[in-house]
Amino acid sequence: MKRLYCFFLICLTVLCLPGCASMNPPISRQDFLLDTIVSVTLYDTHSQDILNGCMDVCRELDALFSPTKEGSDVYRINHAGGRPVAVDARTAELIRKSLEVSQLTSGAFDITIAPLVDLWDFKSQFPRVPSQHQIDEALSLVDYRAVQVEGNTVTLTNPKASIDLGGIAKGYIADRMRDYLLENGCQSAILDLGGNVYAMGKRTDGNNWTIGIRSPFDTQSQIGTLTVSDRSVVTSGPYERYFEVDGKRYHHILDPDTGYPVENGLASVTILSDQSTMGDALSTACFVLGPSEGEQLIQSLDQIDALFITDSRDIFSTGDLDFHKNS
Ligand code: AMP
Ligand code: MG
Repeated sequence: MKRLYCFFLICLTVLCLPGCASMNPPISRQDFLLDTIVSVTLYDTHSQDILNGCMDVCRELDALFSPTKEGSDVYRINHAGGRPVAVDARTAELIRKSLEVSQLTSGAFDITIAPLVDLWDFKSQFPRVPSQHQIDEALSLVDYRAVQVEGNTVTLTNPKASIDLGGIAKGYIADRMRDYLLENGCQSAILDLGGNVYAMGKRTDGNNWTIGIRSPFDTQSQIGTLTVSDRSVVTSGPYERYFEVDGKRYHHILDPDTGYPVENGLASVTILSDQSTMGDALSTACFVLGPSEGEQLIQSLDQIDALFITDSRDIFSTGDLDFHKNS
């Protein structure tokens, strides 16, 4: 068995090409948070305090949403045995949004996927394919309707159920980091949370940002670029975390109907949106729904666009995206 999940490559999913013409060089900081490399680059302010404050927002929310850190809100919900748990207002808000996306996608996006995520254990040093019996057992616990949020209290009505915010938390955190920067007068910045990018405002020379999209077929290179301003650009792809057994690849985006990694002809989905919370959840959801249902879903939503890349290397998008494929 060969362990191949490419943990440290996550941050290369989207490569930013700012090419900034400012007189003052941008200031930047990278930290290892959210199980990935989080990078913040500020172009129109040179305050280290704002840079550090922005990273503090990320650290604080990571401490609430981590499923493994004892005492985090998610840890307490998952270990409450079905009892109501008082959580931070931001945790309650994020879970509420997760449930909205579950409803919108008929359960393709489902944070109660956690027992399956634990079972597949893509972070393990020695990953293995679970037995059908184990998958059936974990699947019986997956149902977002077992999550109740009233005010800031969360209850899992199935005491054995648990939640995993891995498909939406980075987007939510990117939105809160953006809010912090705007409140502190910074309007031109790139937030990169392991490939989950928020391109704030415009470059200081007034031009839009150029964001490189990683090729799902050769993760060291870009397949093309998107030109955007003030947009979240989030990509979901199987290459972010996976292992191989007997030549077959098993990746981390799981089908809540079957309990297995999704296989539907999609190689990656990139969502462009104003709110990264929605972009993150929809990128995971569209990856589960597949090219045709995913496209229909995005077309039904205002101000949200998507770029789909299929296993057969077709690239198509909704809306009028400024995408240039590399030759
Ligand atoms: P992303 O990289 O944003 O597509 O999120 C993938 C992560 O979301 C996985 O590593 C799991 O933690 C979680 N996840 C996997 N499958 C699902 C699903 N069907 N619905 C919600 N979250 C999921
Ligand atoms: Mg996601």
